[in-house]
Amino acid sequence: MKINAKIQKFMNGKYGPDQLYILLIILYFILFFINLFINSYIISIIEIIIVFITFYRFFSKNIYKRSKENQKYLRIKNKITKPFFNVKRNYKDKNHIYKKCHHCKTTLKLPLPNKRGIKHVICPECKKRNTILVLKKQKIKVIKKH
Ligand SMILES: [Zn+2]
Repeated sequence: MKINAKIQKFMNGKYGPDQLYILLIILYFILFFINLFINSYIISIIEIIIVFITFYRFFSKNIYKRSKENQKYLRIKNKITKPFFNVKRNYKDKNHIYKKCHHCKTTLKLPLPNKRGIKHVICPECKKRNTILVLKKQKIKVIKKH
């Protein structure tokens, strides 16, 4: 039997890695790194607990329960990162503005205006007026120099 097949047979019916697994590993390394400097007894214990949970979840045969835990984690993660979605979008896309409608919370993608400052937009979803502060503006591009 090849090594891959052996691993596969061993992992058969076991849960394996997921997003929560990755978080636990990252957490472990952060604590490990911090502890190199402060050498805390409590952090060492937390590290051991994290390793135990990580291994326990990885080799667990209760796949239903483990994936429930992972879903719970993803929901919490989503709740925490959600307010930053538009910040990320605005950073990545230099040609549009992403804003949430104040009334219905729909995310709007707006074209860049010619001037910075206060703008009024009508939300296509709820037809209500939004006042937004715009810090990005259109840049005039030079196609051919004189
Ligand atoms: Zn709206």
